[in-house]
Amino acid sequence: MGRVLVIGCGGVASVAIQKCCQNSAVFEELMIASRTKAKCDALKEKLDGKTKTKITTAQVNADNQEEVEALIKSYQPDLVMNIALPYQDLTIMEACLACKVNYMDTANYEPENIEEPKWHATYEKRCREAGFSAYFDYSWQWAYQKRFEEAGITALLGSGFDPGVTQAYCAYALKHEFDEIETIDILDCNGGDHGYAFATNFNPEINLREVSAPGSYWENGHWVEIPAMSIKRQYNFDQVGQKDMYLLHHEEIESLAKNIPNVKRIRFFMTFGQSYLDHMRCLEDVGMLSTTPICYEGREIVPIQFLKALLPDPASLGPRTKGKTNIGCIFTGKKDGKDKTYYLYNVCDHQECYREVGSQAISYTTGVPAMIGAMMLLTGTWNRAGVYTVEEFDPDPYMEALNKWGLPWQESHAPVLVE
Ligand code: NDP
Repeated sequence: MGRVLVIGCGGVASVAIQKCCQNSAVFEELMIASRTKAKCDALKEKLDGKTKTKITTAQVNADNQEEVEALIKSYQPDLVMNIALPYQDLTIMEACLACKVNYMDTANYEPENIEEPKWHATYEKRCREAGFSAYFDYSWQWAYQKRFEEAGITALLGSGFDPGVTQAYCAYALKHEFDEIETIDILDCNGGDHGYAFATNFNPEINLREVSAPGSYWENGHWVEIPAMSIKRQYNFDQVGQKDMYLLHHEEIESLAKNIPNVKRIRFFMTFGQSYLDHMRCLEDVGMLSTTPICYEGREIVPIQFLKALLPDPASLGPRTKGKTNIGCIFTGKKDGKDKTYYLYNVCDHQECYREVGSQAISYTTGVPAMIGAMMLLTGTWNRAGVYTVEEFDPDPYMEALNKWGLPWQESHAPVLVE
C-alpha cells in the first residue's frame, strides 16, 4: 500500500520499523535513513528474509534540510516518519512541505542549542505569555498549520505513547464515555528494573531535559508552574504495585487543553525511584545536565552530551530490564447529567517486548504507536490536510489497532483517583 521513509534508527525507531515489517500489507517499502548508516544496515540485516517489506538504507543528516529534501526526492515516499530527535522536527517538516509529502513524529520540537538568540527571545516571550517554561512546546509546529493545509498534506504530531496513545485515550473517553470531561490525570509508571544505579529509558539528553524542567499543569484555563519534582503522590498501579510519582510538565497537556472542550484540569505524573532522583539531582547540581558548551583541555564539549556518552545506551537495556509499565489516563466528568470516573490504561511487560523485538517496553510502547500513526495516514484512515495531534482524529481505528498490534488497553469504571 505504501512507501515510507523512516528517519532515525535508535531505540524507538528500531521497534517502529520492526512493527512496520510485521505489517507488510501496509508498509510495502521502507527506507531506513539515519546519521549512522551502520545502525540502519544492521537492522536491515536482522529483518531481511523475515518480512515481505522491501527495505533500503541511507545516510542522512536531518539537521540539514537540503539533505532530507534530496533524499525524499530520490526515494519518493508517501510518508516521512521522523523518529530521530525533536531537534530535527522543523527541518524535516520543511523538507516534507517542499516535497509535498505527509509527515509524522513522536515528540514536539525543541532546539538543540537553547542559547540560540532568535529561539531564546521567542522562548522568553512564551514563558511570560503562556506561563510554563519547559524548552519544548507545540507553537513551533502549530505554526505550520496553514502551509500544510495549503499543500494538501498532513503532519501528525506526537504519535508515541505519551504523547500519542494518551491523547487517543482522551478522544475515546470523550466520544464513548462522557458528555463532558472535567479532569484528566495522565499516569506514566515504569515498574521496570534494569539493574543499573542510573540509566534513562530513552534518549538521555531529551529525557533529562524533560524531567529536570519545572513541573506544570493546566487548571481553570491557565498553566500553574511548580518547582521540578515538588508535587509527589503515591498510586497503586495494576500489575505493578505502589509507586511514588511526581508531577511533570508534558507536551500533550498543551494540546489537550486546546482540544478537550471545557476541561478544568490536566495533570501528568511519572514514577521515579529514589536512586534515579538522587543521581539526577547530583548531576544537575554539578552542572552535568547543562546544554551550554564548556572548554575542556582545549576542546569544546556540551556537558549533557558528554554524560550521554557515559550512560548506557537505552537500546541496550532490553535484555536487562524486568517488570512492567502501566501508562494511562484517569478521567472525571459528566455523563447524562451524572458524575462519572473512568480509567484507560495499558500494561506492558519489558521481557515480553524483548522477546518480540529485542527492546525494553519504553521503546516498545513508543514504537508501536508510531507504526499505528503511520498506518492511519498511509491507509487514508486519518486524512485531513494540516498539522494535528492524535486527539484531533477519530480514536476508534487507532484504539482497535492498539489491541491488534501489541498494546491492548484495559478500562476501569471505578478507579482510585489521585488526590
Ligand atoms: P535514540 O537516541 O535512541 O535515537 C535517535 C536516533 O536519531 C538515532 O538513530 C540517531 O542517530 C538519530 N539522529 C539523531 N540526530 C540525527 C540527525 N541529525 N540526523 C539523522 N539522524 C539523527 O532516541 P530514542 O529512539 O530513544 O527516541 C526517539 C524519539 O522518540 C525522540 O524524539 C524521543 O523524544 C521520542 N520519544 C517519544 C516518546 C513518546 O511516548 N511519545 C517516548 C520516548 C521517546 P545516531 O545513531 O547517529 O545517534
